[in-house]
Parts: sequence; structure tokens; C-alpha cells
Amino acid sequence: MAYQYDDQNIFAKILRGEIPNDTVLETEHSLAFRDIQPQAPVHILVIPRGPYVCFDHFAQEASDAEITDYVRAVGEVCKMNGLETDGFRLIANAGHDGVQEVPHLHVHILAGRMLGRMLA
Ligand code: 5GP
Repeated sequence: MAYQYDDQNIFAKILRGEIPNDTVLETEHSLAFRDIQPQAPVHILVIPRGPYVCFDHFAQEASDAEITDYVRAVGEVCKMNGLETDGFRLIANAGHDGVQEVPHLHVHILAGRMLGRMLA
């Protein structure tokens, strides 16, 4: 199945500057900003600038430069917040069953408290 990207999703609007955001990091191919409804003391979303619906779509169609930039952006946000000390969690929800609310790839970085066990 080919992914169809909806350019009216809220993160596309953030990337176009139509909606404000609390930016943490900007790189050539990625943007990191604070979640509007934080679930932990640190709750940052990292998104690619390109039109990718989810992780799978990104892995299939993004360039090596985009993928490298994105992975390094996630790492840089962790480093900027000193998360190597106490740890953190990365989550990338996808699609209906993954309960993805916004159809633009985003990794949640959660940290700053002991997180619950959560595999489902
Ligand atoms: P999902 O369920 O798609 O993995 O997560 C979407 C996340 O985006 C949620 O944690 C939600 O709080 C966040 N979110 C939704 N709308 C906005 C917005 O306008 N600005 C920011 N910064 N975060 C948003």
C-alpha cells in the first residue's frame, strides 16, 4: 500500500510556520519541539521536514541524508537535555492500530521521571 501524505496535518502546518511551536532544535532535514500536552517533564517531538506519514514510510522513501539527519537530531535532543544520565523512552506511533493522532512521522522523546512499563 502506498502512503498518502495529508499536507493539512498539524505538523505540516507547524513546518510551514502557520502554527507556533516551542522549538528545541532545527536541522536541515528535521525539527524538534515540545509536545503541547506533555506526558512527562521532558516530552519532545522530533519530526522530519519531508512529507512522511510514519516511520515505515520514512524508512522506505527518505534519502540517506534525511535519515542520518533525523537520527542524529533525536540523539542531539537527548544530549542537549542530559538524558544519558537517567534514561529516556522513544515512541513512534503509526497508523490506526498504533493510535497515531498526527499523520506526520514523529518520535516522542519522554524523560524526566520514572516511566511506567508499557509495551501495549
Ligand atoms: P501521536 O498520538 O500522533 O503519536 O502523538 C501526537 C502528539 O502531538 C500528541 O502527544 C499531542 O499532544 C501532540 N500535538 C498535537 N497537536 C499539537 C500541536 O499543535 N503542537 C504540539 N507542539 N504538539 C501537538
